[in-house]
Amino acid sequence: MVTRPDLTELERQALEAALAERGHQRFHAGQIFRWLYRRGVTDVEAMTDLSRALRADLASQFRMSTPTLAHREKSVDGTEKFLLRLADGRTIESVFIPDTPSMTFCISTQVGCAMACSFCLTGKMGLVRNLTAGEIAGQVRVLADALQMRGAAFNIVLMGMGEPLHNYDETMKALRILTDAQGFAMPARRITLSTVGLLPALERLAKEPVMPNLAISLHAPTDLLRGELVPINRKYGVGDIIAAAKRFPLKKRSRITFEYVLLAGVNDSPQDARRLAKLLAGVKSKVNLIPLNAAAGIPFERPSDAAVDQFARIVAEHGLTVSVRKSRGRDIRAACGQLIVEGQKKSAGQQLAVIM
Ligand code: SAH
Repeated sequence: MVTRPDLTELERQALEAALAERGHQRFHAGQIFRWLYRRGVTDVEAMTDLSRALRADLASQFRMSTPTLAHREKSVDGTEKFLLRLADGRTIESVFIPDTPSMTFCISTQVGCAMACSFCLTGKMGLVRNLTAGEIAGQVRVLADALQMRGAAFNIVLMGMGEPLHNYDETMKALRILTDAQGFAMPARRITLSTVGLLPALERLAKEPVMPNLAISLHAPTDLLRGELVPINRKYGVGDIIAAAKRFPLKKRSRITFEYVLLAGVNDSPQDARRLAKLLAGVKSKVNLIPLNAAAGIPFERPSDAAVDQFARIVAEHGLTVSVRKSRGRDIRAACGQLIVEGQKKSAGQQLAVIM
């Protein structure tokens, strides 16, 4: 049996080809994209500028899957966490951060994550599976509807569950769908991809036509320390990452963000701050400090505000731009590194799929 193509998994060009194959005009793809992404209409019968015949063919020859909203929780600070259920029953989390002036959707790229960073709860899940492009873009559709924000301007950060560059092809396809002029028409500059720095994928990203902002999760200035916190560092070290960052093509005025989770007594000393500043000298960069969001099962503590301030001050004194990330939604476990969905057993095959 040939499975019907899923409309939400198709880039516009692929949809044009699929329509042409079935004897329809290619330009209908743009109309369908506008319904799906701009207006949030997933019922083909409601796509009223399409002919009756085309609507009937779409209904019978294509599928359309949208993650369903399983649970929604709001923090005292306005941050909202969404538990979304996928077609196979797996669940993921997406977060809305209503920080004014910009509103941000924090989106997942995998169910779980293979990177196993020692301070991150998602890392404790291991990788369950990659998300498809439709499931990644689908989170934006669901959040935009749930928050009544269709047509509103917002940012997207790929900082939810998963390592986006470990699911490279589907992530890039999702970005092409989200930025398509006939669809959401997200400007690429409003999208930020955060990565531990998988080197070969980073080199590929440097050549992509749709170029999101880049954030690199550094967390330590030396290989010795970073290797303990971010296991993949044993494969792609600090020196490699900095060299790749220096080569990364950046638009005028744009810079790479280096994220640095501050862990009390581990990587928050004045010496670490000086080393970090030295390491980033000559890189078009800004530093985003993230005081640890502590959780049961995470063997680290959040530094005092004074320690965070001192670290930030030292980095700034060396001429770098530095910001401290406000922790949002901690009361509902929606903050960085706190996204975890329990009870998702991995099959043997899925465990094999973890390529580290
Ligand atoms: N895998 C990607 C994106 C997801 S995490 C990456 O590693 O960049 C987004 C950010 O939250 C990363 O910088 C990550 O290191 C950070 N983070 C993870 N756990 C955290 C925690 N417990 N407290 C604060 N930040 C955390």
